[in-house]
Amino acid sequence: MSQLNENLQLIYQDVLRRNPNEPEFQQAMLEVFESLNSVMAKHPEIAKKKILQRICEPERQIIFRVPWIDDQGEVQVNRGFRVEFNSALGPYKGGIRFHPSVNLSVIKFLGFEQIFKNALTGMPIGGGKGGSDFNPKGRSDNEIMRFCQSFMTELYRHIGEHTDVPAGDIGVSAREIGYMFGQYKRITNRYESGVFTGKGVTWGGSLARKEATGYGAVFFAREMLKARGDCLEGKTVVVSGSGNVAIYAIEKAMLFGGKVIACSDSSGYLVDEQGLDLARIKRIKEVEYGRISQYAEEVKHAKFIAAGSIWSVPCDLALPCATQNELNAKDAEQLVKNGCIAVVEGANMPCTPEAVRILQNAKVAYAPGKAANAGGVATSALEMQQNASRDSWSHEYTEQRLEEIMVNIHKTCFETAEAYGCPGDYVMGANIAGFLRVCNAMDAMGVI
Ligand code: NDP
Repeated sequence: MSQLNENLQLIYQDVLRRNPNEPEFQQAMLEVFESLNSVMAKHPEIAKKKILQRICEPERQIIFRVPWIDDQGEVQVNRGFRVEFNSALGPYKGGIRFHPSVNLSVIKFLGFEQIFKNALTGMPIGGGKGGSDFNPKGRSDNEIMRFCQSFMTELYRHIGEHTDVPAGDIGVSAREIGYMFGQYKRITNRYESGVFTGKGVTWGGSLARKEATGYGAVFFAREMLKARGDCLEGKTVVVSGSGNVAIYAIEKAMLFGGKVIACSDSSGYLVDEQGLDLARIKRIKEVEYGRISQYAEEVKHAKFIAAGSIWSVPCDLALPCATQNELNAKDAEQLVKNGCIAVVEGANMPCTPEAVRILQNAKVAYAPGKAANAGGVATSALEMQQNASRDSWSHEYTEQRLEEIMVNIHKTCFETAEAYGCPGDYVMGANIAGFLRVCNAMDAMGVI
């Protein structure tokens, strides 16, 4: 990463002025800007045609009221968002997040990252993101259904298989997608499978989609280690979170011979020095919708620590798979001190900018989320392909396609970083490669 040149500095000041009080969005933009000095020098048409300024402005931002009635008969009001950021490469594509921390800044940062991530996959998908400040924790199934139906009663008019294709994210899995898809179908009277991805496999979903983000991150980790003449076998691994991404990152890391000893949720972290029992975690999280502390109640030698940071647990490989800014400078210093050799982001922007600098300065292999977690959206695009041809592929075939895509993304990032004079810098490689693909398409389409 480098200081912004004068032109980029001016553009950045302007986007700050236009987007005040949006720290997450500003952070995501700055990270991309910091990769662009040499790109702008090499491609003067980008500045001339103000392509970067256009990319930073979402094509459309929708904010709406979501009223619903809880089990006590009380009226509840939440706020819904969909930011349709960029459709130069295809229909807007990106997940929906239900979490109390959701606001416009969070959705814009996620949508902005999504543009370049989707471009990196090489598939025909634009970038978007949505969500609500609704907290699903502790809500009954009926409450979640009523909320999803109300959310979709507004959102349905903005989405469609050729327009905008949502998927899951934090707090949104196949259950919520089922309720939203059901309401979409009911309002529009159309069985439009391609309007959502992450659907249940019995009604249009793709095999391997559930596993894709976590598996993809570990495929990426394997490629990174391979590029350094190393492998995953025998490595100690720590994974934050215990949701969809974390569970399947744990699974693949184990399949590749890693020993995964810790994971977490927002209440604390769990350590099992003998290696995590994944079947137990799946039961607790996927079947019982429970808390990860339950594992330590069931397994005597495991420890649950409610205060402190999971990144203090010594490991070779760290996979942050929970949420944004969950790994800070202090955590990064601790990882370096403990001899960690690679940090691969399953979550979106989980490392703070200071943490990234510390890791890169210490020569820890570091993979940004927009490259490492792109397997999820890539498999969503595979789901769209299956829906369009009314077909469903086997798990093996879909996973093989996912693996090829992740190997390719790694190669693209690696080679782009080399071509731009910063070998081994996957942030530069991912940002530049994704950005150029979007720029080329926007340039070809005129001023839109
Ligand atoms: P889930 O809701 O399935 O799981 C999220 C996990 O992170 C839970 O264990 C949750 O704990 C934990 N978590 C959430 N917020 C916090 C917080 N503030 N502090 C500590 N822990 C927290 O979400 P996913 O696994 O789907 O998503 C995880 C990350 O991966 C997100 O950044 C998401 O954007 C990204 N991602 C997801 C993709 C997907 O396909 N699902 C694709 C690409 C990226 P708790 O239950 O206590 O809240």
